[in-house]
Amino acid sequence: VINLGERLAERTTFADVGGLDSLKQTIEMKIIKPFTNPGLFSKFSKKTGGGILLYGPPGCGKTFIAKATAGEVGANFYPVHITEILSPYFGESEQNLHNIFETARANKPSVLFFDEIDTLGYSRSKSSSDLMRGLVDSMLTELQSINTNTDKMLVIGATNMPWDVDSAFKRPGRFDKLVFVPPPDREARKVIFKLKLHGKPVDNSIVYDLLAEKTEHYSGADIENVIEIATENVLTEIMRTNQERLITMEDLLAAIRSTKPSTLEW
Ligand code: ATP
Repeated sequence: VINLGERLAERTTFADVGGLDSLKQTIEMKIIKPFTNPGLFSKFSKKTGGGILLYGPPGCGKTFIAKATAGEVGANFYPVHITEILSPYFGESEQNLHNIFETARANKPSVLFFDEIDTLGYSRSKSSSDLMRGLVDSMLTELQSINTNTDKMLVIGATNMPWDVDSAFKRPGRFDKLVFVPPPDREARKVIFKLKLHGKPVDNSIVYDLLAEKTEHYSGADIENVIEIATENVLTEIMRTNQERLITMEDLLAAIRSTKPSTLEW
């Protein structure tokens, strides 16, 4: 049984996403505004529909910003890994895909997020499997059946390997906008540290500029990991010494020293 997404337990919005300002603007204009002002867009005969395809190194916020997009419009969020819907039985993958679209349609407004879109294109370009080709065609049909104005459904795709994405997905009305999600720059890293440390017991030695400076090439997920390590170390110490204390700058710097950035390998 496929886990068909999640309702937004606690809402994530653009305010939770550090950096990525131009991506936020693109999503705003391409998917949020047509969603919230359908009348205006149809008056100007502005084409709507189609999805956005996000690409970039892992851990830099593709899933996170898709979830935040759902949060912005108060929609249910359905994250789907393509590999989850694959089945060796004839027609079953297509049926799984169809069920996901139907569930999202029945629970409008909704944002469908397909991760690892390249899994489809890769196999298709290699013509390795008829089963996969059927799924690609189904995906194209499902995408084109969405009328953003009336359906209140948005589709966002993501990939770490844009060069493997089937070109059929990139035509108008499909994933027709390809957007790079870069590793966070210095300013974005600073914001991400602030966001992720918010609410944690930190002392006043924290210098966010320095944390940002020391984490060049770190992804958002890497930063989250740094904070996780520092927190765990402090907790372990508290348990051992039975003396409570706050998280310090040195704890965070030590955690940074014990880790490596992941975006360089991309
Ligand atoms: P993958 O390609 O591996 O699926 P991804 O690009 O979808 O990676 P996410 O799952 O969105 O990456 O990011 C992992 C975690 O890192 C998120 O849950 C989020 O907490 C944090 N994160 C990443 N980028 C940002 C960001 N720009 N602002 C705030 N948090 C971020």
